[in-house]
Amino acid sequence: MAIMTKEQFQDSIRAREPMNVWFLGEKIEDLTTFPVLSASFNAVSKVYELHNHPDWEDLLTVESDLNGEKVSIYNAPLHSPEDANRKTRAARALAEVIGCCTHRCTGSEAFAGLGPCTYDMDQDLGTDYFKRFTNFIDYVQKNDLSCTVTVTDVKGLRTLPPHKQPNRDNYIHIDEIREDGIIISGFKCNQTGILFAHEIIIIPTTNMKPEDEDFALACAIPADAPNITYVLGRTPQDKRFFEVGGDIEGIDLGKKYADHQALVYFDKVFVPKERVFMCGETKYVGRMLSYFTAVHRLTAGGCKAGGCSALCGAASLITEMVGVQKAGHIRTKLTEMAMTAETVYALSLASGVEGFKHPSGYWIPNPLLSHTCKYTCTKMPFEAVRYARDIIAGFGETAPSEIDMRSEAVGKLCQDAFNPGNPDYDAFDRLRAVRFVEHMVRGSNWTAMALHGGGNQEASTVMARAYTDWKHLQDIARAATGIVKDEEKCEEIISDIGKREGRICTTLDLPKEQ
Ligand SMILES: Cc1cc2nc3c(=O)[nH]c(=O)nc-3n(C[C@H](O)[C@H](O)[C@H](O)COP(=O)(O)OP(=O)(O)OC[C@H]3O[C@@H](n4cnc5c(N)ncnc54)[C@H](O)[C@@H]3O)c2cc1C
Repeated sequence: MAIMTKEQFQDSIRAREPMNVWFLGEKIEDLTTFPVLSASFNAVSKVYELHNHPDWEDLLTVESDLNGEKVSIYNAPLHSPEDANRKTRAARALAEVIGCCTHRCTGSEAFAGLGPCTYDMDQDLGTDYFKRFTNFIDYVQKNDLSCTVTVTDVKGLRTLPPHKQPNRDNYIHIDEIREDGIIISGFKCNQTGILFAHEIIIIPTTNMKPEDEDFALACAIPADAPNITYVLGRTPQDKRFFEVGGDIEGIDLGKKYADHQALVYFDKVFVPKERVFMCGETKYVGRMLSYFTAVHRLTAGGCKAGGCSALCGAASLITEMVGVQKAGHIRTKLTEMAMTAETVYALSLASGVEGFKHPSGYWIPNPLLSHTCKYTCTKMPFEAVRYARDIIAGFGETAPSEIDMRSEAVGKLCQDAFNPGNPDYDAFDRLRAVRFVEHMVRGSNWTAMALHGGGNQEASTVMARAYTDWKHLQDIARAATGIVKDEEKCEEIISDIGKREGRICTTLDLPKEQ
């Protein structure tokens, strides 16, 4: 079975061992029927469903280089610029449908970090991590599992390295190394989609010094393994999920798809040796993160493009409903929103095309463009959000609930007041559109994802600075201004500029500054 149907996926989630998951002080007995998680279960189910759709399968599936089977792109490493561009396009298209995280993307990004890094480690250290890791990917592909990458540690005081933290659990760490595997403990936070993942792939969150060797660990654990506690994070609209039922269809939720984030605590969890991909090799953590972020931050441009397009579509509809669609400033705002989507999409595509082939066969997107892409995602969508909120108007921001709109007592009154006045649309259509905008801009974690997910503004800037070839930039100016007086030297620079064909990024060598 290389591709699961939606139903097979849902059954596989129901068949997992009971998990220790909490929300608002109560244990969640069945994740698949728990109201607050319903939109998230819908989203990942839809992603599985679309893998089997004739118009989507070329976008979402590829032939595996490991076993020749048709597999999900989310379980296949990138081997070419075409693979990278497919990832961008899939992220965008899926975001246009579900308007949230695919729940499966980050697993493939863990592959992107660990594949080349385990290869490098094996070459340098004589370990067998790459083989272990490839075996794991083969298993994931053959069973079409959903994987999530678990990167972010809670970190405590940011100025202290992992080994100096007063609470060791602030960074996930190795408690014990045994013949047959390792025991690990610690927190990870903000984990998107983790409750519907089959496999959790743990990697470190930050560069490490030799003293941090207990914290330099990478491994894979089934999400339903023993000794893991999950606490589901809140969103401003989580209590609205309990309102749905009867004639309340859930308009106030904005849409039927969403993602979720959770805090996770690993309490002395055993990981068998064949699932351990890094165990104390601090020197390789930075390199693994460089490979990982080159792909992770490329994806951000795809999914933020899809989200911005959907947001722009909803705002455009609202302008039509209330009759302001032809106003000059409205057209400018909508066009800027559309161009925001195109900007981050283009950066993502470009990063995929202008990448590097690693000796392992993995394709690494252009890091400078990827970090620039993610940096742009921390800024431009917020201008789009401002325009969308401008357009839905104050009454869109403060609209009555679906319950009141349908109530016997005040329903008619609310509908009359919220009617946009356009015979093609009624008050419920307007409510649907404004709630969609509300969901994207302040009801869910969509903006939080744009800002923090995959790394914040400074994290992207630091990496972009490290991957910029500053000497090359200065040479350009030296040649252009005549600071270089020696004509031969000047010709050398011009010839180098030609050879680089406009590429400013350094090679894949580890950035000096991280
Ligand atoms: C909606 C959402 C979904 C997410 N999904 C996932 C997921 O699926 N998996 C996952 O692993 N993570 C996930 N994340 C986490 C995300 O990757 C992190 O939020 C991001 O990497 C930044 O880390 P942080 O939030 O701990 O902030 P920090 O790194 O602590 O940064 C907070 C601020 O402090 C500054 N700062 C931090 N340290 C220093 C320092 N030493 N010196 C100076 N300034 C400093 C930063 O620049 C920033 O301004 C998600 C986050 C969100 C919000």
